[in-house]
Amino acid sequence: MTRYKVAITRYAHDADAVKRAVDLSGAFEKIPRGGKVFIKPNIVFWTKETVFPKWGVITTSRVIEEIVSCLKDMGIHHITIGEGIIRLKHNDSETSKHAYEQLGYYNLAKRYGIKCIDIFERPFRKIDMGRGGELAFNEDIIESDYIINVPVLKTHAQTRVSLGMKNFKGIIDINSRKKCHSADRENDLDYMISLLPDVLPPCAAVIDGIYTIERGPTFDGKARRSDIIIASPDMISADMVGAVVLGHEPEQVKYLVYAAEKHNRALDLSDIEIIGEKIEDVKSYHDYTFPYNEDNTLPAAMDRAGIKGVSYYKFDNTLCTYCSFITGAMLTSIAFAWKGKAWDDVEVLTGKIMKPLKGKKKTILLGKCMCSLNRDNPDINELIEIKGCPPKPEDAVKALHRAGIEVDPAIFENLDKAPGFFMSKYKDKPEFDESFYRI
Ligand code: SF4
Repeated sequence: MTRYKVAITRYAHDADAVKRAVDLSGAFEKIPRGGKVFIKPNIVFWTKETVFPKWGVITTSRVIEEIVSCLKDMGIHHITIGEGIIRLKHNDSETSKHAYEQLGYYNLAKRYGIKCIDIFERPFRKIDMGRGGELAFNEDIIESDYIINVPVLKTHAQTRVSLGMKNFKGIIDINSRKKCHSADRENDLDYMISLLPDVLPPCAAVIDGIYTIERGPTFDGKARRSDIIIASPDMISADMVGAVVLGHEPEQVKYLVYAAEKHNRALDLSDIEIIGEKIEDVKSYHDYTFPYNEDNTLPAAMDRAGIKGVSYYKFDNTLCTYCSFITGAMLTSIAFAWKGKAWDDVEVLTGKIMKPLKGKKKTILLGKCMCSLNRDNPDINELIEIKGCPPKPEDAVKALHRAGIEVDPAIFENLDKAPGFFMSKYKDKPEFDESFYRI
C-alpha cells in the first residue's frame, strides 16, 4: 500500500523548521530541474487603511522566504509568487502592490530574482471541472511545472478548516469563486474545493502554522502562536494531517471526504506516514465557527445581550466572501444599534438558498441571489431588497434603516479599517512578532 509522507516540525527560526519539514517529507523532490515553480501564499484580504490583518490569517513572509531559499539552493530559478487578494473596489491594483511591498515580496524579488504577480492583472483560462461546470484559473499557475501551496493552518466557518485545497480558491477568478458557493447541494462549496488540485500541475504543501486561528478564516477569529510547520508532496495528506492538528477529524471535513472518496484514500490517516513531531504533541482544538443560539436566529453573543425583534439566520455555504463581508458589518452594526427596545420582527436572509419564515413582518434580502430567489415569495409581508452582486454597503445601511434598525453608517463606510480594530488586541504581546511578516 502507498504510504504518503507528511512531516511535522516545530518552528524555531535558527533550526530551519521549513527546510527540515521539506527534506523529511520529500516535498520538493519531484520538482523538475529547470522547472517553473509557482508559490501560492494565502493573503485573504488586505487594506492600506490600517494595520493589515495577519496573525493566523495570512501566510508569514518568513515561511515564504525559507521556501524561496530552499528552492534557490536546489538550483531552481524560475519562481513566481502569485495571489488573488479580495478586492473591495473593482480594478484596484494598488492594494495587492501595497501588500507585496509591506510583506517584503518585492525585496525577495530583488534578492532572489523571482516574480510576484497579482492574478487579477494576468489572464485566466477556463477549465472544465466535470459536473462542477467550468472555472477560470490563473494561467501562470496552470503553466507552471510545480506548485508549492503555502496556506495557513487555520479553521474556516464554512468548511471547518482552510488549508491547501481551499487555498486554491485564490487562483480562480471572481465569477468562479461565486460559482464555488453553489446552491446546488450536489456541487456545493466542499465538492468544488475537492476538485481544485486535480486540474493543476503537481503540487506540494507547506502549511504555515507559526500562527493559527480559531473561528477563521479572517481577522475576526482568535489567533494563537503555535509554531508548527507541516509539509508533504501530497495535498490531500497534508490537509488531513492539518485538520487533525487543529482538532478536526478528516471525516468531519466534507471536502476531505469528497477527495478521499475520489482518490480512494483512507480518512483515518492509515495510509499516511507522519515524520518528525507526533500529532498528539502538536494537536490542539481550534473552534471553527462563532456559536449561534439554539434556533439559529442570532449569534449567541447577540442573543445573550438580549437583542430582540431581529432574526439574522446563520449563514450557509452558499454565502460568498463578498456577501459575508457585508454580513459581518450588518451583524456588528445591529449589535451596536441595540438600545433595549425590540425591533419590529425583522428577518435577514443571506446566501442563495434561504427562504422567508411565514409571519415575519419585514424581510431583508441580502444580495442579488436572495432577491432573485425570494422577491416574489408570498410568505413575505414587507419586502426590503439589498440588490447587487456584491451588494453595496450603503444599500445595506438604507435597508436596515428602512426596517427600523438605526445602524451607524460609519461602520459600513470604514470597512477597510475593521482589521485594525481586531488586530489591536494582539498589540504589545511579544509572541505576536511583526517581523514574521517582513523581509
Ligand atoms: S449576491 Fe452575494 S451570494 Fe450571490 S453571487 Fe453575489 S456575492 Fe455571492
